[in-house]
Amino acid sequence: MASLKVLEQLARKHGTPLFVVDHDELRKNYATFKKYLPRVQAYFAVKANPDPAIVKTLYKAGASFDVASMPEFRIVYEFIKSMRPKERQDWIWDKIIYANPIKANETLKELDQYKALVTYDNSEEIKKIKQYAPHSGLCLRLRVSNTGAMVELSSKFGAKAGEAVDLILEADKAGLVVEGLSFHVGSQTTNFDNFVQAINVAAEVYKEAKDRGYTKMNLLDIGGGFPAPYDPTVKPFRELAKKINTELDRLFPKNIQILAEPGRFMVATAGTAVSKIIGKAVRDGKLCYYIDDGVYHTFSGIIFDHCHYHPKAFKKGPTEICTVFGPTCDALDVVSLAESLPSKLQRGDLLYSENIGAYGNASSTWFNGFPPAKVVHINQ
Ligand SMILES: *Cc1c(COP(=O)(O)O)cnc(C)c1O
Repeated sequence: MASLKVLEQLARKHGTPLFVVDHDELRKNYATFKKYLPRVQAYFAVKANPDPAIVKTLYKAGASFDVASMPEFRIVYEFIKSMRPKERQDWIWDKIIYANPIKANETLKELDQYKALVTYDNSEEIKKIKQYAPHSGLCLRLRVSNTGAMVELSSKFGAKAGEAVDLILEADKAGLVVEGLSFHVGSQTTNFDNFVQAINVAAEVYKEAKDRGYTKMNLLDIGGGFPAPYDPTVKPFRELAKKINTELDRLFPKNIQILAEPGRFMVATAGTAVSKIIGKAVRDGKLCYYIDDGVYHTFSGIIFDHCHYHPKAFKKGPTEICTVFGPTCDALDVVSLAESLPSKLQRGDLLYSENIGAYGNASSTWFNGFPPAKVVHINQ
């Protein structure tokens, strides 16, 4: 995170609400990922924060990208195309995976021209892909345990292990090529055994496919879910990486390509929100601060991402437990019901919230007429 002095200067210069993205932190997170998972190519999950400047920095660091909609695809595709020599346009699988298992017909029609790598998890999708995007490479998304993840995904996506090989053979019969398997253990997974179990499930499916005569698979995508260090209870990334490496080396030969789709891990710590106190009241004996950013804006992760952020003051002083409200007229717009903040803060004083780079600013709205926070990039 940028120093408090820098944050304060930026807020003075640009006004608030402000969302500051530190590109040194992006590069650091990418380097950490590569250092501890050297066998794994990171496809940054663009939905965590689709800012083109973030895409650019991570691309330059060596990242590939996981997209899940055509607008995300275009952001990444156009940028990478501009960086590559014209005569070499065969990079797409190395740099992009379209990892939304359910795609509209129109999306598939558009995707087909790129011969992209796409995920699927059911029979209906095979029919759609065969009809509208037959030039795609396929990756079967498996349903795996999401126990202990902050955001659960297994109820919406994933083929059960028992039906997986049938779905692979069905796609094969339809003339499509299944390149490999993918899964997602749930976002912000602090239960590292989810990864261990999921890699084992994938290895079993790989083996069953081979036993039943399908030998074209050559990649494994271990998805996202790598936790951001929101608080000290999150165990270090290297411990998770060690478990993953052990299982990968034990179960998957060296010629199998390993991908991952980290979203939160890359961007969470790179984003800081700076907000201003615009009102102050005492309600039922509790001090309430009203700030100019809230759950419809940079703090949207409180609602959509089940995440807590802790606004802190730049000023020091005796504290008490306060409520922090957002600026809209909706009572849902609560940033925190219990934050220890100095009681003497005044209108115009600033607060900052760290580790808010993932799934916050990305789902900001214009609700109630309040625009999203201004975005400022540093150390680009
Ligand atoms: C959201 C998502 C990700 C990113 O997940 P994180 O928990 O942020 O790492 C990766 N892959 C898919 C398919 C997703 O939907």
